[in-house]
Amino acid sequence: MLFIFTSTFAQKFNWNKNQVIAHRGAWKKNNLPENSIASLNEAVRLGCYGSEFDVWMTLDNVLVVNHDAEFQGLTIEKVNYADLLTKTMINGEKIPTLEAYLKEGKKQKTTKLILEIKPSLISKERGIEVTNASIAMVKKVGVIDWTEYISFDYDYCKRVLAVLPKAKVAYLKGDVTAEQMKADKLTGVDYHFSLYKKEGWIENAHQLGLTINAWTVNTAADMQWLLEKKADFITTNEPELLFEILNKK
Ligand code: MG
Repeated sequence: MLFIFTSTFAQKFNWNKNQVIAHRGAWKKNNLPENSIASLNEAVRLGCYGSEFDVWMTLDNVLVVNHDAEFQGLTIEKVNYADLLTKTMINGEKIPTLEAYLKEGKKQKTTKLILEIKPSLISKERGIEVTNASIAMVKKVGVIDWTEYISFDYDYCKRVLAVLPKAKVAYLKGDVTAEQMKADKLTGVDYHFSLYKKEGWIENAHQLGLTINAWTVNTAADMQWLLEKKADFITTNEPELLFEILNKK
């Protein structure tokens, strides 16, 4: 009976098997706002492995999705969520809350949600609070299986792993060795693609069992080079171009 119960309720995932991660969602080709719910859904429609997005926390502790520290002239960390609602994006959406974003992502089981925790401009402590709150929201919405984590702050990466030891976590900034990341149990490297040009860098990280992701790769030549080097993922503003290249192989 227990077997029947678990098999009936087990999540059925079918994650897309490709290298494509849409950077801030798939927004460029269709002139959608970056980090909008619409850009997430377009990344899902294209069949990307992942859709990346950036998380900040308002003064009144609401997690929202936006790339820059500012949203239409308002510094997110210094205003309340209600202040952000006075602004509208070009497609009519308001700034997405992390909760709404994750709930939208949960409607499908093919594209991973690549959650970037932005370094707080207030303090390290505030940033760790944002990290804790982001994880709590992932748990609340029930998207632990959907979500992978990235950050430019190495301490946030380690914090995610302290709370969720099985999480996939990659570091963005480019100043930590593959050996150190392995020792700290990170699962991947996500550096600017130029840093991988150093002979043997990718091969060494792969030997250590780390995945390789690269940002932000927008030309066919750079995509080709990374594919030849067996990069696991390529984060791009041009997911359609990357699919075109992959489909020719
Ligand atoms: Mg980002």
